[in-house]
Amino acid sequence: MKKNILVTGGAGFIGSNLIQKLDLNFFNIFVVDNFDNFYSIKIKKKNISTFDKSIQLITGDITDTTFLRDLFSKHKIDIIIHLAAKAGVRPSLIDSQGFFNTNVFGTLQILEIMKDFGINKIIIASSSSVYGNNVKVPYCETDNVDNPISIYAATKKTCELISYTFHQLYNLDVINLRFFTVYGPGQRPDLAIHKFFKKIYLNEPIDFYGNGDTKRDYTFIDDIVDGIINSIKYIQNNNDVYEILNLGNTNPISLKDLTQKIEKITEKNFIYNYMPMQLGDVSITYSDITKAKNLINYSPKIAIDQGLYMFNNWFKNNNL
Ligand code: NAD
Repeated sequence: MKKNILVTGGAGFIGSNLIQKLDLNFFNIFVVDNFDNFYSIKIKKKNISTFDKSIQLITGDITDTTFLRDLFSKHKIDIIIHLAAKAGVRPSLIDSQGFFNTNVFGTLQILEIMKDFGINKIIIASSSSVYGNNVKVPYCETDNVDNPISIYAATKKTCELISYTFHQLYNLDVINLRFFTVYGPGQRPDLAIHKFFKKIYLNEPIDFYGNGDTKRDYTFIDDIVDGIINSIKYIQNNNDVYEILNLGNTNPISLKDLTQKIEKITEKNFIYNYMPMQLGDVSITYSDITKAKNLINYSPKIAIDQGLYMFNNWFKNNNL
């Protein structure tokens, strides 16, 4: 029998890419999104315009208790993919209360509702930012993550903790996925790769933070989506689940190398606006994905050069 799956934040970058790949033979899909104005609503409208007609889009806010209770009274949900959040390290420094409200209170509400409505499977978007400035690399799920260096990271770590508590108290099955810098078609416009392509084609300067040695484990969206889908299969087939999994590419590249690769692909040169390192920025993200490989057969396939090539094609077709 088909399962009812709810994707919170489904109009966003990762959610909309996930929904395109979920098999409609197995799932009735429900989407909740409040179309927040962190970036252009037009982009989110475009994301949902390609959804199959059977997908039910419900506009609303996960921090609105009445809205959520009404939704769950009307629809019997089997699995929740919880992606809705205020995302980004730097914006979280300006709006710490907003980030805590959406990310922590919003997640707490979803968990409370699950308990009250007898729903017991949830996959939650966490982030590599929880590793802060840990020195040991690659980052492993067993590493200490008690030292987040941004409010955003602190909210993600808090969600890992409260979801553990709900697992312990009420037997909810939970997987927290720590995504590592996701990029690809539809990427959020506030994130580096998208911003860099935009600026290079517009011949506008890019802000280049630090000396270019900071490294990121850029992970292509299709690999992340495959990781989420494999996690859904795992959580459907298992009970008494509480897992935290890294979903990365395991191949960090420096900011300097990234910009050089983009120059090569676009056959253009950046204008650099050199800036000091930003508060909250970590020096490296680097995933150990052994656990995800073993548990859910996660196996990222797209290397950075191929991913940037695909991003460039998408960008030229959609933005130029
Ligand atoms: P996104 O901003 O594109 O998507 C998030 C969606 O959530 C948006 O459509 C937004 O309108 C919606 N939303 C925000 N607040 C809401 C609320 N109160 N109620 C209902 N909907 C709300 O971001 P994304 O890049 O697709 O990220 C998805 C998830 O993955 C987030 O939880 C983010 O923190 C996490 N994550 C993303 C990355 C990345 O590199 N993109 C890395 C690590 C973790």
